[in-house]
Amino acid sequence: METRVKNESVTPKPAVILLSGGLDSATAAAIARHDGVELYALSVDYGQRHRFELEAAARVAKHLGVKRHETVRLDLARFGASALTADIEVPKGRSVAEMAGGIPVTYVPARNTVLLSLALAYAETVGAADIFIGVNAIDYSGYPDCRPEYIEAFERLANLATKAGVEGTLKFKIHTPLIKMTKADIVRRGTELGVDFSLTHSCYDPDAVGRPCGRCDACLLRRKGFAEAGLADPLPYPNDEPLGGTP
Ligand SMILES: [Zn+2]
Repeated sequence: METRVKNESVTPKPAVILLSGGLDSATAAAIARHDGVELYALSVDYGQRHRFELEAAARVAKHLGVKRHETVRLDLARFGASALTADIEVPKGRSVAEMAGGIPVTYVPARNTVLLSLALAYAETVGAADIFIGVNAIDYSGYPDCRPEYIEAFERLANLATKAGVEGTLKFKIHTPLIKMTKADIVRRGTELGVDFSLTHSCYDPDAVGRPCGRCDACLLRRKGFAEAGLADPLPYPNDEPLGGTP
């Protein structure tokens, strides 16, 4: 990858990583670190229904030894309209076919554009041309802002929209190392790179102490990924929740 720094005496290039606290962004961060960049992590407190993923993001940032971790508060719950930010029921027990059938209620309007815009502002500030985001278009194609054509469009925007882009001091690149990986591939790659997945949080609807429900789309895809990778998910799921959703 072009961001790799071959000579260790060279000062590593800064890169911004969007860190949600989930397993995808933790793995994307580990891949970026493996490429030799210095990580500037960004998490966004956008009014999520629970605090556990932001706590996970802080744990993951520490675990990965990031240079700096910023959490920006931006209250998208003011708009509502998503099961992640409003009082809308999170779907449970869906099959993968059902998940792939349309844009789910857990879609947060324009979220990745909001997140990438903040990452771009952070990147321009710290002089980072490289922005990493753990989007994935394979296992869960329902989100329009996880597709390669969207990422390419945002990259063009980044270079048109900034002083550093227009003056040519930075050529922004949006890195999506997971975009073509299955969840099992992500689990395997993260494990190879030493990611401690017990620090991550994926569930859309955890219990009062942050334990995952085991049955929302995020839990089911995560559990399926670990199962297909032949690895144990370190998170504590309720014992009576079968994997695989409703038939
Ligand atoms: Zn869940």
